Parts: sequence; structure tokens; C-alpha cells
Amino acid sequence: MAYADIESRFFRLAQAISRTVPDRVKIGAVLTKNRKILSVGFNRMDKTHTAMDRLGCKKRLHAELSAVIGVRWSDVQGAVLFLYRTMRNGKLGMSRPCCHCQIILRNAGIRRVYYTDPSHPNSVDFMDIRGR
Ligand SMILES: [Zn+2]
Repeated sequence: MAYADIESRFFRLAQAISRTVPDRVKIGAVLTKNRKILSVGFNRMDKTHTAMDRLGCKKRLHAELSAVIGVRWSDVQGAVLFLYRTMRNGKLGMSRPCCHCQIILRNAGIRRVYYTDPSHPNSVDFMDIRGR
């Protein structure tokens, strides 16, 4: 199976998760490594992360952190994250990680993040968190 097919599978899963989020902001996350799923996450109002408290970001646990929490540190090293945001009208929305999450993802060892971006010709863009 081509990597693009696997990527689109991860995005479809992230999309399905995002649609279940009982919040105005609907973001699903799929954490992967070596083309296998490590965990999934979604943004939630009922949980936060100590690192978010330190950074002054207490409002909600963002989907990308929700996916990373609870995964073994050694597994997270070099992992690839997929983020999908569903808007209330059902269309995809921007899910680029915020600056707080980017810091935490970098410290956690995430290698690359793919995220939905309605302004991008392919509706998807990515950022390399770690240069290795
Ligand atoms: Zn964030």
C-alpha cells in the first residue's frame, strides 16, 4: 500500500474522531509510528496538562496532547501526528498546532505533524517538528 493511502487512512480516522467531539472546536488526532497507530486523541474541556498550566494555557486539552499523553516516551520518539478539524458546517478547518503544543510536541520527540488547512490546495499541510 502506498504511503499516501496510509496517510489518507489516518486522516479519515482523525476526521471520524473529530466529528464525535462534543465541543464547538472539533479536532481529532491520530498518533502513528512506522505506519501503525500508537494512540488517538481529541480536544476536551474536562482535562488539561501540567505543561499547559505552566505555559498559561488552561482552557482545554488540545487534541494533539490528548493523543500523546499516556504513550510510552520511547514510542513517541520519531512519531508522526495527524490532525483533522471539522467545522460546525461539516467542512474541514485549520488544525495547525498552536505554539504551546508545538513546544510540547518538540519536547516529546514528535517528528512531523500533518494537519488540515482549508487554504492549502490539498487541504493538508505539514510541519517538521524535529529535524531528524
Ligand atoms: Zn495547542
